[in-house]
Amino acid sequence: MKFIGAHVSAAGGVELAIERAAALGANALALFTKNQRQWQAPALTSQTIRAFHDACVRFGFQAEQILPHDSYLINLGHPEPEGLAKSREAFLDELQRCEQLGLCYLNFHPGSHLGKIPEAVSLKLVSESINWALEQTQGVTAVIENTAGQGTNLGWSFEHLATIIDGVEDKARIGVCLDTCHAFAAGYDLRTHDGCEQVFAEFERRVGFQYLKGMHLNGAKSSFGSRVDRHHSLQQGNLGEAVFHYIMADSRFDRIPLILETVEPEIWADEIAWLRSLAAD
Ligand SMILES: [Zn+2]
Ligand SMILES: [Zn+2]
Repeated sequence: MKFIGAHVSAAGGVELAIERAAALGANALALFTKNQRQWQAPALTSQTIRAFHDACVRFGFQAEQILPHDSYLINLGHPEPEGLAKSREAFLDELQRCEQLGLCYLNFHPGSHLGKIPEAVSLKLVSESINWALEQTQGVTAVIENTAGQGTNLGWSFEHLATIIDGVEDKARIGVCLDTCHAFAAGYDLRTHDGCEQVFAEFERRVGFQYLKGMHLNGAKSSFGSRVDRHHSLQQGNLGEAVFHYIMADSRFDRIPLILETVEPEIWADEIAWLRSLAAD
């Protein structure tokens, strides 16, 4: 069973995201539980929490089908104490919002060394940030996303993901989300079936499929190995379709949210239907 959906808008209330996903024919979704470009957000009210729960029941979504994404401002590997502390507080708040909504995942970008500290030091800070936040929450798994490696962003290689996981104490609450566009831009060649075999074998070797909790399915405007993060629609751009055929036919990608962050929301329903037509079940 494949859980396929898109990162939908939560404008007007998080419960509306559920309805928007259902309207696309999706059985998965991603959302921001607060404005992703601001540090502060009003707390979730009991009314909102109830409305979210009711929408999930009404449209048949369970927590494992939902992959919330945190704010872009957060940098858990921040080189400076003040920026790090601010990021950690914001990350904790994001985890607590997921907890309140009954969600089981929080997807986040690992962070950036900003050219001010060595990569290894920043990666260690990311793990420590995760430990600090997990200790204060329950039931939500922190899901690290691989990045394109733009600028000084960490997390573009499987080694980075493995290093972060290695430093996390509660291995039951740490996971990974792989973004196809980011992987491709970071130099993982997913353009052919054989390429996919090799890349996912390497993922299994270095990280392990037991940690895979979600995928972002995106085409790429950026070119192979460019370290540039620019998404495209699934059937357009430089990545090609092979990787989507591969994922849909492979049971290792069952029962985790497979989320579109493609550039044309108008065709999300069609893209989801197309992916579903490729799925084995
Ligand atoms: Zn992504
Ligand atoms: Zn991206």
